[in-house]
Amino acid sequence: MTATAPPKEALALHGGTPVRAELLPYGRQSIDEDDILAVVETLRSDWLTTGPKVNEFEEAFAARVGARFAVAFSSGTAALHGAAFAAGVEPGDDAITSPLTFAATANCILYQGGRPVFADVREDTLNIDPERVAKCITPRTKALLPVDYAGHPADLDELHQIADDHGLTIIEDACHALGAEHRGRRVGSISHMTVFSFHPVKHLTTGEGGMVTTDNLRFAETLRKFRNHGINSGARERQAQGQWQYEMVLLGFNYRLTDIACALGLRQLSKLEKNLARRREIAGKYTEAMRALPGVLPPVVRNEVRPAWHLYPLRLELASLSATRAEIFQAIRAENIGVNVHYIPVHLHPYYRERFGYKHGDYPVAEAAYESLISLPMFHGMSDGDADDVLRAVGKVITEYAT
Ligand SMILES: *Cc1c(COP(=O)(O)O)cnc(C)c1O
Repeated sequence: MTATAPPKEALALHGGTPVRAELLPYGRQSIDEDDILAVVETLRSDWLTTGPKVNEFEEAFAARVGARFAVAFSSGTAALHGAAFAAGVEPGDDAITSPLTFAATANCILYQGGRPVFADVREDTLNIDPERVAKCITPRTKALLPVDYAGHPADLDELHQIADDHGLTIIEDACHALGAEHRGRRVGSISHMTVFSFHPVKHLTTGEGGMVTTDNLRFAETLRKFRNHGINSGARERQAQGQWQYEMVLLGFNYRLTDIACALGLRQLSKLEKNLARRREIAGKYTEAMRALPGVLPPVVRNEVRPAWHLYPLRLELASLSATRAEIFQAIRAENIGVNVHYIPVHLHPYYRERFGYKHGDYPVAEAAYESLISLPMFHGMSDGDADDVLRAVGKVITEYAT
């Protein structure tokens, strides 16, 4: 797999031999034979959707994160939409979120007719800054949507204090943070609602899929209706009871997750612990190597958390490098290491600029972070050799440009 090192470590960008012959992606799923068998078994069963695997997956998931309820959705984005609905976000309301996230976190506020308000992130963890959140609160504020960036839990104590003081609902976007812990508590059991994604690059995959966890029965009931057209009973319950009546009581969507997907999710969940351990191992290896390299800063981990390491976002100290982030990105990419950037700040996307008038300079911490971030490949299926290739490529490129 690994190409032999050229005599002089010429960058692949400059015609040297790339560290790898084939591209290592920044993230990818691991599917084992038992995952495939579970899916096939469900395909042979009576229920492809609205069947028993949905409950089974939800119950196992709730138990794993320590929540009373888990409600499965067809994607993390649909789950965010459901949570925004259940929180009662509606036209005239604001909800506060981080600019350094995937657009879906802010979009779910727009789906409900609310206005997304951004509060800038902290320098160290790049999570939303509670002090800035406090300054954004007005009588219009309905909800807070912190993001556990890269899998590092946000400042949940401070945010919950703010939410309690102002009667706000916290929807924690934990799409990066399945398996993370904050002060010994599991993410998924802390906020009013916590949202997860099962996209293939996340810790557990169902192809597409998502989940909301909550301890609040009213939220759980609303979420179940919302994902099923606003109907107050399931097809399987009706079949079991020999009934045809149902009532649509709110305007919902078809955001259901199939039994096929839930069967896969159940198998994947059983391997979460092992996969988390592997991600933590890779992160440890990366951080040790990055500490020895000039011009780069490993991600900050605060004492009170155990991150889940969805991403490994490296920060470049551009002042001590003779290249831009774009050049360094291209150079690492040319070595066949699939680096990525998380994220283009949401407020700088054309839709947000045009609709809300956001511009460069509005959230300087997130913008400066964005200019210096590079995500290294991070997934539990990576071999030691893969991780070594990443470190060789980063070392090669950074050494070339260090001043
Ligand atoms: C992946 C992700 C989502 C959306 O999840 P999908 O399952 O792809 O819809 C939302 N927020 C964050 C932070 C994510 O990383």
